[in-house]
Amino acid sequence: MKLLKKNLAKIKKVNKVAVSSFIDRAIEHRLFKPIVISIITSFILFRGFEYTKTFILDYKESNARISRSKPIKINISGQGKNFNLEEDQTVEHRVRNGDTLSKILSDNGVDDQSVSSILNAVKKVFNPRSITTGNNVIIKYHVKIGYDTVGVESGKNMDRRVIVDSVTIIPSVEERIVASQKSDGEYDAREVKVKLLRYVSRYSGTLKDGLYNDGVASGISATSMMNMIGLYSYDVDFERDIRSGDKFEMLVESFYSEDGKKMKDGNVLYSSLTLQNRVIDIYMHKVDGRVEYFDPKGNSVRKSLLRTPINGAARISSGFGLRRHPILGYSKMHKGVDFAAGTGTPILAAGSGTIVHFGIKGGYGNYVKIKHNSDYSTAYGHASRFNKKFRLGSKVKQGDVVAYVGTTGRSTGPHLHFEVIYKGSQINPSKVKATSGLRLSGKELARFQSSKSEIDKYRKNIPNQIKR
Ligand SMILES: [Zn+2]
Repeated sequence: MKLLKKNLAKIKKVNKVAVSSFIDRAIEHRLFKPIVISIITSFILFRGFEYTKTFILDYKESNARISRSKPIKINISGQGKNFNLEEDQTVEHRVRNGDTLSKILSDNGVDDQSVSSILNAVKKVFNPRSITTGNNVIIKYHVKIGYDTVGVESGKNMDRRVIVDSVTIIPSVEERIVASQKSDGEYDAREVKVKLLRYVSRYSGTLKDGLYNDGVASGISATSMMNMIGLYSYDVDFERDIRSGDKFEMLVESFYSEDGKKMKDGNVLYSSLTLQNRVIDIYMHKVDGRVEYFDPKGNSVRKSLLRTPINGAARISSGFGLRRHPILGYSKMHKGVDFAAGTGTPILAAGSGTIVHFGIKGGYGNYVKIKHNSDYSTAYGHASRFNKKFRLGSKVKQGDVVAYVGTTGRSTGPHLHFEVIYKGSQINPSKVKATSGLRLSGKELARFQSSKSEIDKYRKNIPNQIKR
């Protein structure tokens, strides 16, 4: 520090023309962050090192994407005639639409030769084209700037180099691609798997505000709650079956990095709803690596058709049967069930099958019909728009979003009109036999019983996260 101050005292003798010329040159030579470096340099020259340090700290706070691991190194020699500046920087770049790896590197001042060497190295372990919006790219580099007061006139007194020490691509929370510079100046890339720690949380409480709201308020992620509601929608009519005072319990996995940062949600391992007249327990168990959910006896909770083919909290606004038609005025059979929900709420395929109608159909407005098998079809009316991923003839899986709630056709407000069609005529959806899908037996059932007892152990030993 003493030496630096001594040297700064010397450099103050450099005439002002030379300094401003240095700054001009810095900008002209497209210095890495030229403005930042020139400001810092001029601050050091005119205001001293302590002031500059404060300035850098402020700067770091205002621009979190760039950070320095070490202070800027300044070497001065030749009685204030020459000096060079060296700094380490880390740039964290969040991938935006239209970014490519080579664009990101070039935009950050990396020379063409290094860009191609880094790209070649990365290509051996990772396809650079697979980076997508939201991924992070971290560039660690050092910049060297040499300056010689001799030659100001000719403009050949500046030398600047950006040396990339490493480039880290983070395509997902579990993997990183690291390209680092070797001693010969070329780059080598490798894939690093990030170790994630699994953590299981238990939430147990009383319903006050609805299952989804109470769950989220308790700290369970929205994704996990949607998952759980999806699983219960085969058996539970959320409008009629759930009362305030009913109880719920959930075990949810989450994954953390070794330094304690939450990286992602895991699976819902267990969920229990205690309603007025029944308890519904659901256990997670993997079958052939696939996550499935079962009742305590090993019967799959996924049924042939969803009862509530809508994502989120939906209220039945009109049931199946005779009613006075809100628009036509006379009594008429209502051949479906209406779910009131906000415009844009996703409409889910009640079962797997093939789309046999995907467009406008009279009073139904925007209409989707899915054929599930030779006997059953389901239909969805009044959608605001379709999911463009699908078309007439597309195969859909149960739970796929096919369209979005709206009020097209003969409709008084945003809702989903849902029909179950059995052998050509509409039937009451609640009368559809809830035939269970997968039923575990033999060795698979034994494996399920051991996952279940492990989950039950968690239930006994993990403290409740809900404190109230
Ligand atoms: Zn209707």
